[in-house]
Amino acid sequence: LEDLQAGTGSATIDGVPAPVSIPTARWMAADAQIIPCVLGGNSDILDWGRAKRLFTPAQKLALTERDGGCANGGAPPGMTVVHHLRWWHRDTGPTDLNNGILLCTTCHHRIHDDGWDIHIDGTGTNATVWFIPPPWLDPTQTPRPGGRHRFDLTA
Ligand SMILES: [Zn+2]
Repeated sequence: LEDLQAGTGSATIDGVPAPVSIPTARWMAADAQIIPCVLGGNSDILDWGRAKRLFTPAQKLALTERDGGCANGGAPPGMTVVHHLRWWHRDTGPTDLNNGILLCTTCHHRIHDDGWDIHIDGTGTNATVWFIPPPWLDPTQTPRPGGRHRFDLTA
């Protein structure tokens, strides 16, 4: 998994005597819809790529760890749904942890209707969520922290 994530090293395939490069292994596995399947601590698959449309309970738990609830307004996790940052149909977005965000219905509509953008810095449960306001609301489009990082102290 480390080699796969780093993109270095080599992989072996049952029945094939020579090792293959990590990019080749990734391509073959993705083609077979085996990955992107990055495994979480309990071996739950957290990145489903295009193999599943709906986020799984394991993914929602991981996102709850990262976002704490609605990443924008702070509503409790039970009141949220997982939103694809790159949309499933429009953008052929994957059902991956880094393409998901917990939003309550109100914030979900507000983000879509008002033209907000969302960026995720980093990966996994320690990633930072940023909300980019639309130009009509903030001409400088200064990113605003979302998720648990809303509560971080700044110097
Ligand atoms: Zn909300």
